Amino acid sequence: MSKRYLISACLLGHKVRYDGQDCLLKELLQHLLPDQYVSLCPEISGGLAIPRPPAEIQSGNGRDVLLHQANVVDINGTDVSEAFIQGAYATLDLAQRFQVTHAILKAHSPSCGSDLIYDGSFTGTKIQGQGVTAALLQQHGIMVMTEHEFLQQLKVRPE
Ligand code: SF4
Repeated sequence: MSKRYLISACLLGHKVRYDGQDCLLKELLQHLLPDQYVSLCPEISGGLAIPRPPAEIQSGNGRDVLLHQANVVDINGTDVSEAFIQGAYATLDLAQRFQVTHAILKAHSPSCGSDLIYDGSFTGTKIQGQGVTAALLQQHGIMVMTEHEFLQQLKVRPE
């Protein structure tokens, strides 16, 4: 089966980040055809606004949030776990409808991060772990990678 991708919307230049900005990485699209990918922002799909207060997972990782064993809390102390979980399931639904095989998700986000995430202290400290959406997609057999891992893989194994 040919590879089909889901990409974090902010990486494609959509201004959906918590601060109303994007994380455009033009290089990504140089390697993908328009019919090879879909994109979305899990946090917006979960009902959060642009802009919104930054949020981090407290005392756990995305897997723990999906099990209701940890929470995502914004910098004002508001628990936004349910929005993150809803956004993760909306992303999974789109991925399954499009028969996505791989996800290229923005590194370090509490939704999209897949190698390191912020530790919940809002000090910029990162710990190993996945965001909520990254964890759910991986649990359903989708190969999840950061944008850096995707580009690095192309350099090692050009397609
Ligand atoms: Fe980007 Fe994901 Fe954060 Fe949305 S949730 S702004 S797609 S990193």
